Amino acid sequence: MKRYYIETFGCQMNVHDSEKMAGVLRSEGYAEAENAKDADVIIFNTCSIRQKAEQKFFSELGRIKSLKKRRPDLKIAVAGCIAQQEGGKIIERAPHVDYVIGPQNINVLKDIITSKSDSIFTDDNPFITEIELPVDRRDNVRAWVNIMYGCNNFCSYCIVPYTRGRERSRASQSIINEIKDLAEKGYKEVTLLGQNVNSYKSNVDFPGLLKEINKIEGIKRIRFVTSHPKDLSDKLIYAIRDMERVCEHIHLPLQSGSSKILASMNRKYTYKDYLKKVEKLRREIPEIAITSDIIAGFSQETDEDHNYTISALKNIEFDGIFAFKFSPRPGTKASNIDGQLPDGIKSDRLSEILELQSKITERKNKELKGKLLEILIEGEDEKNTGRLTGRTRTNKIVNITSKNNIKPGDIVTVKIINARRHSLEGEIV
Ligand code: SF4
Repeated sequence: MKRYYIETFGCQMNVHDSEKMAGVLRSEGYAEAENAKDADVIIFNTCSIRQKAEQKFFSELGRIKSLKKRRPDLKIAVAGCIAQQEGGKIIERAPHVDYVIGPQNINVLKDIITSKSDSIFTDDNPFITEIELPVDRRDNVRAWVNIMYGCNNFCSYCIVPYTRGRERSRASQSIINEIKDLAEKGYKEVTLLGQNVNSYKSNVDFPGLLKEINKIEGIKRIRFVTSHPKDLSDKLIYAIRDMERVCEHIHLPLQSGSSKILASMNRKYTYKDYLKKVEKLRREIPEIAITSDIIAGFSQETDEDHNYTISALKNIEFDGIFAFKFSPRPGTKASNIDGQLPDGIKSDRLSEILELQSKITERKNKELKGKLLEILIEGEDEKNTGRLTGRTRTNKIVNITSKNNIKPGDIVTVKIINARRHSLEGEIV
């Protein structure tokens, strides 16, 4: 039996694309290899959002050159955002690569593993929303579901609109059919995926889509990523408040607390606008958890701008953040903005941001001690301690000390008995 090995870098979108690539390969009779050495097809599903991820990929790619030398029939494909951005230049730089497949073209995988055809597949694909591929999902309880592809926002630092193309929404019926099928297979939670789910538009808008999914029997929890603050409508806030299966958690990237920097990032909102949305979310849904993304050390960011971000973190008190140093990406507007900061300043600012947020997250978690919370059990905890792990509706990880015949997919109530920075500990009540 032939085997495949997929190495995935980057975001949930890539993780789910890899599930689709695995699905296509399995449907062609391939099995998963434990490592690249045992594979007949190796796919790197790449990310170009930060220079670090890109460097890591190119060093991995160099490492497998000797494999191709020993086994010339080995097929090597580069997929994802670097594939789209670099196209044929990847094969010029690494001639041991057979195929370059952009994120809008993973449907070609089936054809190219059966017959050698072209090598570069990076065209814009207007039919991406209509293509249905088999999916080899990694999880039996929670599933990712694409509701849209691409992005129209052109944040000045971001490469996504260039690699994943313009925004295209999937037909609502096709999404609903996929989720009904997942419910029949026993899935309990779906996460709707898109670069900016708030701007989903087909015969219904995003709250309208949530309303339809909320009716599907068997699905207990609905989540979505990512939301753009400028498109977070009151209608969506009420949908989260009123629909019992829509979880009380929103990931709402702020990026900076300085309105001057937000303008330079082309985010199309000010800090004041953002704050108003957070206040409304908390007024309407007091238990909601809000998480965010922050970029440290964007070009021309002064100490004052950085301090606005620090004040924003103190003021808003997110439940958690992802924060990174600004990494100028070739081809984006931000890579040409003068006044890029030395790495040392970016690192210092990032450390201050992370340190502050850690304290806030830990304190917020500690406030949950003694509370009774609903947990969806996902499986054994990551450290293999024999404990089970699950998540609250607000997306906080809870490890459970007593099993009591509980299994993945069960929804249980637990009492929080301990709280740490990154997880909670609970016992079944
Ligand atoms: S909203 Fe901005 S950051 Fe998000 S994918 Fe689109 S351009 Fe990139």
